[in-house]
Formats: sequence, structure tokens, C-alpha cells
Amino acid sequence: MIRRIKGTQDIYMEEITYWHYVEGIILDLTKKYAFQEIRTPIFEATQLFKRSVGEYTDVVQKEMYTFEDKGGRSVTLRPEGTASIARAYIENGFINFGSPLKLFYVGPMFRYEKPQAGRLRQFHQFGIETLGSEDPEADFEIIDFSVNFVKALGINDFQLLINSVGCEKCRPEYRKALKKYYSGKLDRICDDCKKRYETNILRLLDCDKDREIAKNAPSIHDYLCAECSEHFDKLIHLLEENDIDFTIDESLVRGLDYYTKTAFEIKSNTLGGQDQILGGGRYDGLIEQIGGKRVPAVGFAAGLDRIILLLKKEKIVPGDKEKPDIAVLAIDEIAKKESFKIAEYLREKDFSVFIDVVNRNVGNKLKHASRIGAPISIILGENEIKSGEISIKNMNSGEQKNIPMKEASTYLMGMLKKKKVGN
Ligand SMILES: [Zn+2]
Ligand SMILES: [Zn+2]
Repeated sequence: MIRRIKGTQDIYMEEITYWHYVEGIILDLTKKYAFQEIRTPIFEATQLFKRSVGEYTDVVQKEMYTFEDKGGRSVTLRPEGTASIARAYIENGFINFGSPLKLFYVGPMFRYEKPQAGRLRQFHQFGIETLGSEDPEADFEIIDFSVNFVKALGINDFQLLINSVGCEKCRPEYRKALKKYYSGKLDRICDDCKKRYETNILRLLDCDKDREIAKNAPSIHDYLCAECSEHFDKLIHLLEENDIDFTIDESLVRGLDYYTKTAFEIKSNTLGGQDQILGGGRYDGLIEQIGGKRVPAVGFAAGLDRIILLLKKEKIVPGDKEKPDIAVLAIDEIAKKESFKIAEYLREKDFSVFIDVVNRNVGNKLKHASRIGAPISIILGENEIKSGEISIKNMNSGEQKNIPMKEASTYLMGMLKKKKVGN
């Protein structure tokens, strides 16, 4: 038997209802906030991720699916979404559409990580980005959206953490201070951090293994330049004025190199070890870094696989929207032909109709209708068709009634309304 690749999943039946639920919320909320969808390729030139995500990040060093194609190009399955958007921004001249440009994306990403619950090698992200504004109002809107997204999912027990990671002007000084602080402690930090000490020192602050040492490290807030510090203060005020609860977390630095100024995360209090729902921040230098003009930008990305795991833990059930309203069961040859016309009529009236196209007795047809969760079955035979009636069976109560075809639609609507209340 051929099996699926480790770290991937088949999403079906019960599971797919969660995806439709989350994707529905995404489409609804992005429309309300007037963000437009962008779809970029799932593979890109390897160089794009090296230059944007950062040569020395864990993502680029260890986790990318990189291969040579038949034309000898080095290509990589995208490990995240923002780099592609920055590339598309330059390549398609988005700057000519004016600023700000508000975009969103949803789709699969790929990282070669150790698979575990909520962490897959093909995983799915939803993200939004505002390009072309350096103002804290843009950061505020992104954070406000992210909070409303989490609430719309039905998750109420969460925490918003924010920080500033400085900019190209003030971060070098802070890096120096960190280097000095950690220089006498190299024998006490983990092996990964020993490497990060040289290449990505900010990451030492958010290493789970070295929490204790990080506690007394110098604070970025003592090193922020006037511009960064004013930007951060304005953002804080906007959050306060709009009653959005937050905590300042000085260890929040985010894993990727391109962040500037604002960094934020939303964490669930129920997910246990992997409690991050989404994370984002500002990346003013990214587009320039990959060859464009300087276009300030801010955004977030949310891991949908993890969110769905969380919904299940919180017992948030997406409802039974995916189940058909009605199963049409034709029990003889004359009824079979008629069944398609009746189904079409009902679909025009907006019902979801499942036609049983397997030849078997009515008992087995009813059994299957019940298995797929249809609340109503219509049983059709030669007698019903001759009399202009249909036989409607309530699958929950077992009650069965003959109704004139003309009245069927109204009658079915009434039955379903009763059922759908509270859904
Ligand atoms: Zn600065
Ligand atoms: Zn460490």
C-alpha cells in the first residue's frame, strides 16, 4: 500500500467541516475589513527565502524543502507567506495601486520539522498584510483584526502579547548589549543558542531552555531610538483607547530576521505546550531587502492546523452545515427517473439534496441516509409518482407522511427550520 508522506494529512468528513468553518470566518472578516486575497505560487526561487527569512534562521538552515528542478534551478516549497507577497509586490508593480495595500492569503506551507500534534510538514496558514504605511494605525488595525479573528472563531481564553524589536538604527546597539550580557554565560546556554549567539542573538531571548538566563538580560526598551519608542507608545495608546487588552512581553522577538518595531502574538491559555495561535509584526525593510523600494509593511500569520486542534480542545463544534438537508431514495425504475427532477426542483429552492444512486432495497437506502446525517428522506416509488405525492420521512423521529408535491417545498422548509434553530 502506498501511504501519504510523513507529516501530511488527508482532510475529510468530520474534519473538513472545521476547515470550512474557519475559512468561512476568514472570508467574512477579510471582506468586512476590506482586505483582498492574493494567491502566490507554492514554490519559489530558493534565494527569495534565504534573502527574506534570513540565512541563519532555523527555517532556512534546517527546515526548507529545497530541490533542484529539471532545469537546474534551486526551488523551495514556501515555508511561509510573507516573502512571496513581498516578491509579488515588486514584480507586479503593486506600488502603482497606491498605499496602503491590504492583502490576505490562505494556503499550504512546508517545513521539514519533527511532526507532532498541530505541527505538520505540510501545514496551512492564513495571513494578512498592510503594505505602504509606516504609521502605528496600520499596526493597530492588524492587531485589532487578529483579536476579532480569534473571537470570531469562538476562542475567548487568549492573551495578546506585544513588544518592539527596534529597527536597523537602534537594534545594533541592543545586539551589542546582549552579546556582552551573554558573553560570560556561554557555557550555560543550550547548543542551539551557542550558534545563535553568533548569528541571531535576539533569539536567545525566546529560547524555552534558557528562560532563566534571559530574565535578567538587558531590555530592548532601554535601547529603542526616539522613532521606535514613539511608534510603540502610539500603538499602546491606540490599543488602550479601543479597549484591547494586551501584555508587553520583552522576550517576544519572533523567529524571522525581517521584523522591525512591532512584534505581537496571540496565545491561547488552553493549548498547552504549543499555545501560539498567531503571530505577526512590522517588516519595514523586507521589500528593500529583496530588491525593491523601501515599502513599510505590517501583518500577521495564523497556523490553521493548530487553530483547528484548539477548537476541538475547546469543544467548539462547527455545526452540521456539511450534511445534506434531504436524501432522495428512489425505490423502483419509474421513481429513479423522476428522482432527478425532484432533486433539481428542491435544489432550486436552495435545499442540499443527496440522491442515493446505488441500487438496493429501501431499508438499506434508509440506513445510508441515516449514516450521512440527512435529517429528512424522501422515499419515491411508482405509487407516489402516480398520485402526485411524495413520502417524507423525518429521520430523527421516524415519522413518515405523504405530502402533495406542490406543498413539499414549504413543508420541508418548515421541518428544517425547526431543526436548524440553535445550530
Ligand atoms: Zn529604532
Ligand atoms: Zn537556548
